[in-house]
Amino acid sequence: MTELLYQTDSYLKNFDAMVKALDAENHAVLLDKTAFYPGGGGQPFDLGMIRSGQQVIPIKRAKNISGEVWHYLAEEASLPPIGTSVQGEIDWERRYQTMRTHTAMHILCGVVFRDYGALVTGGDMEPLLGRMDFEFESMSADLVKVIETAINKEVAAARNIKIAILPREEAFQIPDLIRTKINLLPSEIKNIRTVEIIGLDLQADGGTHVSNTLEVGMLHISDYKSKGKINKRIYLEISDPVRKEEL
Ligand SMILES: [Zn+2]
Repeated sequence: MTELLYQTDSYLKNFDAMVKALDAENHAVLLDKTAFYPGGGGQPFDLGMIRSGQQVIPIKRAKNISGEVWHYLAEEASLPPIGTSVQGEIDWERRYQTMRTHTAMHILCGVVFRDYGALVTGGDMEPLLGRMDFEFESMSADLVKVIETAINKEVAAARNIKIAILPREEAFQIPDLIRTKINLLPSEIKNIRTVEIIGLDLQADGGTHVSNTLEVGMLHISDYKSKGKINKRIYLEISDPVRKEEL
């Protein structure tokens, strides 16, 4: 299993690792540990590079296959042999935008659940853009404005975000987690990682998040759509430029 460094430190940009296996056909390397997010839960995979000796190799994608994170190298690079020490560096601008976006999505679903009891059914994001689907029959244009105000209020409330990794049995005791359907997680998953926006939202989640809602920036609901009587989709835009360095 690859050690997932981003799970405990979302702000890690550089890391040392070792090549554990090669996939010549797909021009990919397996690393013993990584800060590259391999995609999942609506959050896109990271881009970036690894250094191997003098060679700087762009990473085109990262993918988790049964707990092993494969890094797909640019075609022109040669595959570093098994056992090689490499230094990884993620494309931080893109990742930080993605972290802000992912946290914004949790703010949205936290507010919509708290204020209207509506549950999320799906979502997707790219840096600074997100969409989220809800079972939310009463949603309307007027309500969208109210929700936009409410989510920006949560950003301004400067709520801290806490990551925890809990034994499965312990996580199952937390009532808030049940609505995110952790009971559907495969039984071989023994530890559950939780992401808590203190006072607003708690979810089982494997993604990367900022550490305070202030970092998210201004939120704008750019559009919404009915996907039937009950299912509604909300589109979110996150505007720059709140940077951690400026806080
Ligand atoms: Zn999430």
